[in-house]
Amino acid sequence: MLFGLGLCAPAVADTPARVTSVRFGGTPERTRVVVDSDIPLKYHVFLLAAGTQRVVIDLPRVRWSIDGLTAESGSGKGSGVVAGYRYAQNTATTSRLVLDLAKPAVVSREFVLSPKAKGETYRIVMDLEAASLDDFAQSATGSKAGPRQVAEKVVRKPLIMIDPGHGGKDPGASSKQGLQEKDVTLGIATAVREELLKTGRYDVALTRSTDVFIELEDRVAKARNLGADLFISLHADAGGKSATRGASVYTLSPEGEKRVEAAKHKNDWVLDVEVDSSRPQEVTQILADLVQRETKNQSARFAQTLVPALAEAGWPALQNTHRKKGFYVLLSPDVPAVLLEMGFITNDEDAAMLVSAKKRAALVDGVAHAIDAFFES
Ligand SMILES: [Zn+2]
Repeated sequence: MLFGLGLCAPAVADTPARVTSVRFGGTPERTRVVVDSDIPLKYHVFLLAAGTQRVVIDLPRVRWSIDGLTAESGSGKGSGVVAGYRYAQNTATTSRLVLDLAKPAVVSREFVLSPKAKGETYRIVMDLEAASLDDFAQSATGSKAGPRQVAEKVVRKPLIMIDPGHGGKDPGASSKQGLQEKDVTLGIATAVREELLKTGRYDVALTRSTDVFIELEDRVAKARNLGADLFISLHADAGGKSATRGASVYTLSPEGEKRVEAAKHKNDWVLDVEVDSSRPQEVTQILADLVQRETKNQSARFAQTLVPALAEAGWPALQNTHRKKGFYVLLSPDVPAVLLEMGFITNDEDAAMLVSAKKRAALVDGVAHAIDAFFES
């Protein structure tokens, strides 16, 4: 969640494991399920008979990045005895993979594999065998714990969460010609995502990928649930004077910081350091404060990286480019965040730049370079 946090308490720097694929093989009667991850996973498997017959695999909170698509939840097709699968964050600290069965089946074998060569994954392997409804029902009554494993530290890709501002019933600001902020932000966010994925160095997620309305707290929640390492909210400004133009980068203001605690309580944003209840309350509080201070420092560091990167890309900037405000999307206590006002949609030159493919490419380049510089140092 936090990048480069120099604390030695292990729970602090832990980022979730990344599940990269769910695969099926075998025959119509005997199906092998393989769950790939970048670090070994503790898991717990059980059968549920109520409703659709299904196999449930409970995991610690993971980052779902199935076949390159990072999302909080999703689904896919199965094979053999598995009709399909679904995955989601289950609670603040757990994730769940559900296999919907095409016919009653039982787990006949399960084991875990570690990578033998570079580039290989950790695997949970499970063989499901078609069974009578009775056998299924019997297995479904008892649940058994899977093998427990100790997590190892590995280097994994940072997750960048791009937040296209506004959407749906909230169009944001608009230009004289009727250009809407919500469309500008989505178009550029999608382009930033593509640019970052091309490098192969990042996982990227968007808070919205279509023209839908999303509450501000849900935008923050998405970043936190996925364990994002950096959150960038994209907007286009509107000003009283039509001559006002240029980009600005916002981080949380001191007044905004005062709202973090209330937002944490209201939305049940639990920090990783607050999950382990064996620590004395004062120690937990100190660790939580450290996490929040580090988040604030990292947000400022990214803003200070982004401003010169935009200038280098030839993108116009407003005076005092790095500014502070109490924007809600900047309230996350543990995800470094900035809000980029890309330019004034109310200024003719800026509005033209925001829709020009060539100019957009320069902006996207500037943002991508800033992200590179941020994670390199
Ligand atoms: Zn806006």
